[in-house]
Amino acid sequence: MSFTEPAERVALREAVAGFAGDYGAQYFQRKARAGEYLTELWAAAGKLGYLGVNLPEEFGGGGGGIGDLAAVLEELSAAGCPTLMMVVSPAICGTVLARFGTPEQQQRWLPGIASGQSILAFAITEPDAGSNSHNITTTARRDGADWLLTGRKTFISGVDVADAVLIVGRTEDAATGRLKPALFVVPTDTAGFEARPIEMDLVSPDHQFGLFLDDVRLPADALVGDPDSGLLHLFAGLNPERIMAASLATGSARHALSRAVAYANEREVWGRPIGAHQGLAHPLAQVKVELELARLMTQKAAALYDSGDDAGAGEAANMAKYAAGEVAVRAVDQAVQTLGGNGLASEYGLGAAIATSRLGRIAPVSREMVLNFVAQHSLGLPKSY
Ligand SMILES: Cc1cc2nc3c(=O)[nH]c(=O)nc-3n(C[C@H](O)[C@H](O)[C@H](O)COP(=O)(O)OP(=O)(O)OC[C@H]3O[C@@H](n4cnc5c(N)ncnc54)[C@H](O)[C@@H]3O)c2cc1C
Repeated sequence: MSFTEPAERVALREAVAGFAGDYGAQYFQRKARAGEYLTELWAAAGKLGYLGVNLPEEFGGGGGGIGDLAAVLEELSAAGCPTLMMVVSPAICGTVLARFGTPEQQQRWLPGIASGQSILAFAITEPDAGSNSHNITTTARRDGADWLLTGRKTFISGVDVADAVLIVGRTEDAATGRLKPALFVVPTDTAGFEARPIEMDLVSPDHQFGLFLDDVRLPADALVGDPDSGLLHLFAGLNPERIMAASLATGSARHALSRAVAYANEREVWGRPIGAHQGLAHPLAQVKVELELARLMTQKAAALYDSGDDAGAGEAANMAKYAAGEVAVRAVDQAVQTLGGNGLASEYGLGAAIATSRLGRIAPVSREMVLNFVAQHSLGLPKSY
């Protein structure tokens, strides 16, 4: 049993931190405000092997685990570059395809995901179903050997930069009742595939879209794996998603905390640094404690997942996502307070972080749904909904 990361993981973190430092928060903010993507960072990170560190070596990946990919995302986020598409493309889509894709699907998509040349988006959320995934209605029906896919999705990240979307739907013979999902890889240039941007109050290079699918024709091999095992395929992507979302949040919290600490050490208004006042020092110390607890739980979740313990990883990943989402909100809030007026000045980028820090409480699963999970599964309390 060890509470420290192996030397290779530590070296990976140092290398990514050095790499990300060349881009930093200013690059991220500039791109986000110009409505542009992090194209240069993404391409360079892919070349260095950072984006596919969790994917099998035979497809150009690093052969590591989700713990390695989570370390990459945490370091990028800590440097001020919290890229949402790492949660989606290599972690969810890469994992699902590596574990359950057909050899053709793996050959078609995994090398590009690993190198960063292809990006895959992921679509499960629907406007009417929301947190209740059992109510999704996107349905695929057979037409000869093809599939015809119809439905609506909302808040789908990165469709503008994606080559394909991994869409969670149902087959016609399981169109109602408890979710029996079927996953389809849908290239974004497929005829009839329509994505409309959703205007968000987030300063982010990752944009959100509504998807409108009306009898979109897909070849038979668009279906991932065995349609009777869709739930297994979906769940394979959900733990990595939560671990990665937690890492994005802890990295963002680290970024905000370091900005606040640097400022508190320098700024003097009563003849000594403002960080000497306990009114500022204690809340920052509290953030540090909660941050390290969240990081520890995230690392535990990743270690369980990488050891093959999906059930154990599920509880830990939910708890990690909860703790990380909470500390990200608290870190940004306290950082803004520490910087006074500068906390809301564009130059420091913290005002914009107020909105983005809330994301970890809402997606990929809301704080309340995590608490429902813990109440029901960890504590054995009755299901409330
Ligand atoms: C920036 C951003 C990016 C996103 N990217 C993606 C993506 O790439 N792909 C994708 O598929 N989805 C994506 N999402 C969607 C995200 O996963 C959902 O927003 C999230 O799951 C919550 O669903 P909802 O918005 O429909 O909220 P709702 O389900 O309507 O919930 C609203 C509120 O009610 C609460 N609530 C609901 N049910 C219960 C209950 N039983 N008990 C207690 N409280 C409850 C929720 O916690 C929440 O506070 C993204 C969202 C955002 C904001």
